[in-house]
Amino acid sequence: MKASFFDQNFNEINAQFLEHNLHPSGASLLYNWHYKLKQFEPCKTDLALKTQSFLRENYDFTLPKIVVAKESEDRTVKFLFELHDGKRVETVLIPFIGKYSVCLSTQVGCAMKCSFCFTGTQGLTRHLTTSEIIGQYLGAWDWLRTHRPSELKIPNIVFMGQGEPLHNFDAVKKACEIFLTEEGMCLGSRRITVSTAGYLPGLLRWKDEMPQVNIALSLHSPFEEKRNKLIPINQRYPLHEIVEVLDQIPMRKKQFVTYEYLLIDHYNDFEEDAHATGELLKSRRALLNLIPFNPFPGSEFKRPSFERVEAFKKITESYKVPSMIRGTKGDDILAACGQLNTK
Ligand code: SAH
Repeated sequence: MKASFFDQNFNEINAQFLEHNLHPSGASLLYNWHYKLKQFEPCKTDLALKTQSFLRENYDFTLPKIVVAKESEDRTVKFLFELHDGKRVETVLIPFIGKYSVCLSTQVGCAMKCSFCFTGTQGLTRHLTTSEIIGQYLGAWDWLRTHRPSELKIPNIVFMGQGEPLHNFDAVKKACEIFLTEEGMCLGSRRITVSTAGYLPGLLRWKDEMPQVNIALSLHSPFEEKRNKLIPINQRYPLHEIVEVLDQIPMRKKQFVTYEYLLIDHYNDFEEDAHATGELLKSRRALLNLIPFNPFPGSEFKRPSFERVEAFKKITESYKVPSMIRGTKGDDILAACGQLNTK
């Protein structure tokens, strides 16, 4: 089987060109064609015939296909992508005044089985490859190009779709490298955020291997017992160990670790939860992102009232922990956090 072109980072393409005595400008040309100009057909412009036939013989250029695009009233778009083996994943475009964030999936399903998450109910089918991750971005771009051409900007990427990104570390790492490559998409590293449930084996590799993108931890409770119930892998990789590793990740000026806190009505939204969260985060470079629970078919939890969310925020603020409440976008089409499911 041919390798996918979209699985190769810039250095790998360069190395291939060197090894086969092809013109050294080839990698830049290809990165420009596919990632700057967002062309999906094999490139012919300015490439020697020898290079073109090398590419044809060695690389596959197919990308995941959009089979459904659902538009929400608030202009959020949820895509269902079909992969080469017929498996499916979802991707969400989230609008922000004339531009977008894209929420990417990293696995078909997820192995983490968090009790509040719709994706968890489907189990893990397989990891996505780098080209399948990159392909979601390119597919979303292509859809905007035809449907909303005046808003063709996706500067922000969050790895918060289906799957646990750090469980698929190598593919996610390479996707980040490709997103950041100057000759290609050239996205800002501050604009990429990888969210983890606290998968320690991946976190331990972060410091030495990951390009400098942002990290977010799904905290959801400062108490080990409660967190065990919400995020079962906490039993294996407990919060205190995770936080210790996060503390060691070097941060740029004004860079934070985002701690996501899913607020569930009368479960983890009590005053004592807020105080313990404040205690945990007060001396850390932390940004607290409060996410009111989004219900999905069959879910046992409820979303707290606005008053309870505000009260929680007030308490954590008294510890001088900066925080924000994540607005719910796309929930009318099951595109909000935790509502993705492709079974
Ligand atoms: N596996 C990664 C990324 C995917 S989930 C992680 O756990 O971080 C992205 C975010 O959505 C996480 O913070 C997750 O806890 C949250 N989430 C999951 N289910 C949700 C739901 N039903 N309502 C609101 N947020 C949810």
